[in-house]
Amino acid sequence: MILFETIFIYRNIHTPFFLKHADRHEEITLNNNAVLVVGGGIAGMQASLDLANRGSRVYLVEKSPSIGGRMAQLDKTFPTMDCSICILAPKMIECFRHPNINLLTCSEVQEVAGSAGDFKVKIVKNPRFVDDDKCTGCGVCAEKCPVKVPSEFDMGMGTRKAIYMTFPQAVPRITAIDEDRCLYFQKGVCKVCEKFCPAHAINFNQKREETTLDVASIILATGLKLYDPASISEYGYKRYKNVLLSLELERLINASGPTRGELLTPSSSKHPRRIAFIQCVGSRALQKGLPYCSSVCCMYATKEAILIREHEPTCEVYILYTDLRVFGKRFQEFVNTARDERKVKYVNGRVALIVEDPTTKDLLIRYENIAEGKLSELRADLVVLCPALMPREDNKHLAEILNIGLNEYGFFETKDSLLMPVETNVEGVFVCGYCQGPKDIAESVTQASAAAARAAEIAISTITGG
Ligand SMILES: Cc1cc2nc3c(=O)[nH]c(=O)nc-3n(C[C@H](O)[C@H](O)[C@H](O)COP(=O)(O)OP(=O)(O)OC[C@H]3O[C@@H](n4cnc5c(N)ncnc54)[C@H](O)[C@@H]3O)c2cc1C
Ligand code: SF4
Ligand code: SF4
Repeated sequence: MILFETIFIYRNIHTPFFLKHADRHEEITLNNNAVLVVGGGIAGMQASLDLANRGSRVYLVEKSPSIGGRMAQLDKTFPTMDCSICILAPKMIECFRHPNINLLTCSEVQEVAGSAGDFKVKIVKNPRFVDDDKCTGCGVCAEKCPVKVPSEFDMGMGTRKAIYMTFPQAVPRITAIDEDRCLYFQKGVCKVCEKFCPAHAINFNQKREETTLDVASIILATGLKLYDPASISEYGYKRYKNVLLSLELERLINASGPTRGELLTPSSSKHPRRIAFIQCVGSRALQKGLPYCSSVCCMYATKEAILIREHEPTCEVYILYTDLRVFGKRFQEFVNTARDERKVKYVNGRVALIVEDPTTKDLLIRYENIAEGKLSELRADLVVLCPALMPREDNKHLAEILNIGLNEYGFFETKDSLLMPVETNVEGVFVCGYCQGPKDIAESVTQASAAAARAAEIAISTITGG
């Protein structure tokens, strides 16, 4: 028999910082076991919502000031071409409002003890220097703050202030002070934000807080990072202004991005006439980079090419690929639409070198034309690199404290990749999303639901003694 009891939801938490959201929750009836989800991207959010909707208590731990992950940075999503933030934002808000989810942002897992059904997890919450209870998200502090720094969310192409909200739709809507950039923390002067905040929410004395959670199972969903192609000097990334990364392009064509969605070349702020995408930058590489296929790049390059043709109908778009990794009817149809209707030009070519014209800043791409078996050249005024996607460094620490396996590239290992695709070698610890291996949003969501189902089984069997 499954036991249910009526409890106050903060009963098994030991420190006061979670109580700050107490006004949003009421006394509810729930299963007395809890699940920890690490990472608030689309995979972690989906797992949290599935669990919460079936009555489990969820602690969703996100290390940055907002949930959303990479999907929040995307303009549109393949293959549906939905506006990414439009489908993501309702899920973010649902996670925030759900009575069974405790959202712990600016937080990280420090230690784990115990075993399946009875894990004790030490969480560290880093200070925002803004009181969660008082901040209304009005943004006056950021408006008045005199310090401008590159915005990580906009891939360094736009700016934010030293006190900031990561992006306009951030959840929770609470600002945070970047201690390393703030004049008060660095030089002992300023406090302008404190002076102007109408809610008196600024608190320069906030400290790191620690708490221990009791959970039955754990789901890891720490996502992906981009390979830095600066190490492949032939491509000129960081040396040539008009060589961009795919995620930088997503921000450039986004209406809330640094150019308000207007696609302009960084060197001249003019509309580009010819853009070339280069696939497999550091992926499937024998020498520089990683040998595996990042799985989503052929599809997102096609998506970005379609979007460019929509934004700039006179701009030519080329995709230079080694092998086009497009599987299934739906994805093939997507590429066919790009090629036949949007006139995107797919070239089977392996790029050897990019050279910048010092006067025009145009880029001359030298490549091996695989189909024609000869060396060819293409001139473009913007080059978009599609870099390998990799697991985050964080996986190492988590694998160590949880005693779970990582593969040679740093992805979390599952017990059996064929038949147990969410179970790790430690009972009660599950994985989902890109941190387990390359996958798109739909696959991340599917794996998250599978991980949630398995994590819930542990919680229930603990209660029933099964
Ligand atoms: C340029 C580009 C375009 C793309 N376009 C598409 C597309 O159109 N369609 C599609 O299906 N897919 C697309 N993808 C792939 C898609 O982004 C991923 O499939 C998806 O983001 C994976 O979600 P995730 O939740 O696993 O990881 P993420 O989105 O990376 O989220 C992980 C979260 O975990 C947090 N985190 C990390 N470490 C910790 C820690 N130690 N503690 C707490 N929190 C932590 C991170 O801050 C982050 O919020 C694209 C990818 C790129 C790079
Ligand atoms: S800290 Fe104050 S000024 Fe800044 S967003 Fe919050 S309430 Fe507004
Ligand atoms: S104290 Fe820091 S965060 Fe506040 S306004 Fe000054 S520089 Fe900005």
